[in-house]
Parts: sequence; structure tokens; C-alpha cells
Amino acid sequence: MQVRESEIQKIKTKLSSCDKCPLCNQAKNKVFGEGKIDSPLVLIGEAPGKNEDEQGKPFVGYAGRLLDELLSQNGLTREKIFITNIIRCRPPMNRRPLKTEVEACSSHLIDLLNIIRPKIIAPMGNSAINFIFNKVGLENKEIGEIHGTPMNAKLSFGDLIIFPLYHPAAAIYNRKLFTTLLEDFEKMVKILGV
Ligand code: SF4
Repeated sequence: MQVRESEIQKIKTKLSSCDKCPLCNQAKNKVFGEGKIDSPLVLIGEAPGKNEDEQGKPFVGYAGRLLDELLSQNGLTREKIFITNIIRCRPPMNRRPLKTEVEACSSHLIDLLNIIRPKIIAPMGNSAINFIFNKVGLENKEIGEIHGTPMNAKLSFGDLIIFPLYHPAAAIYNRKLFTTLLEDFEKMVKILGV
């Protein structure tokens, strides 16, 4: 565990001085992510929004509260898993990150995943799903077709399961989607076996 902690510290230090894309010019904070650094589950969203940028934490605000509800209804807390995004700095006006920004930032996420070595990676929403599916060589499809479907994959640290999910923000004005997310979370937690 101490080795993991020191590795995490190293990538945090590297991140703090990152200027690989122009997003760092406006970001108040680079949002690294938070949670258990040997967690069997890593949830990955798109990018920090306004609240995340201000607080330096992932998934705060209303989408974050929905995520907390999904976790607590499945006996989980933020402390038991790891939550992060595909990029670390907030895009202006919360626009979708550009391909060049995702590419520039990808090494920070891959370094993190190589340290945590999770059993399940759950990308939430189209941007995170696209990135992770490309990385592991899975064929991408509409989120409506693939959400809640476990897929076997491999990263440099070994075998794992990719479990695509809707982004909790998509359920803010759509309670039906929240029910779908809840069902998918239940399925994922069963596979996790915690
Ligand atoms: S978004 Fe990522 S690559 Fe771009 S400056 Fe921020 S940390 Fe660096």
C-alpha cells in the first residue's frame, strides 16, 4: 500500500505542473479524482464542471448527489471506490472535451489506472465510454445498446471488466434514466462481489 501511495504522490506532482493543453490556463484546480487507491472499481466521468473546478473534487453538485444515491443504495460510499474523469481541467462553459485535450490528458488517467489496477472500470457517459473503448479495443456502439453490459478487456496491468454506464447528469431531469442507472449499478455491484 505504501508503494501505491508514493506512486500516487508522484503522478499528482506530475499533474500539478501539467500544461500539455490550453485548458490549464483557465482551470482553478486540476481535479485528480478521489477514493480508495486499491479499489476494485473505478468510475470515470467526462470532465470537471464548475463546482468540481472550484472545489478540486470530482462529482460534486447535483450529478454528484445522484451518484452518491446510486452508491449508497448499493452499500457503497466514495471512500470504498475511486472516482475520476478522463480529463483533469474544466473545459470552458462545460463543453465536451476536444479529442486533442483527451489525448493530451490520457496519460494521467492511464498512470492512475496502472496504480489502482481495478477489477472493473465503469466509464460513465459517451466521452468516457469512447475513450475507454478505444483504449482497450472494444467496438463502440450507442450507449442505449451497451449500458449495463459487462465486457472483458485487458489493460497493461491485466484482465478487467469494462462496465459502461449512463452519466448521472443525464438522469437529473429524467427519473426513468435514474431507475436504469440504479439497475445497472446493482448488476455491477453483484459482479464486483463486495
Ligand atoms: S486537461 Fe489534462 S493535459 Fe490538459 S492541462 Fe489539464 S491536466 Fe494537463
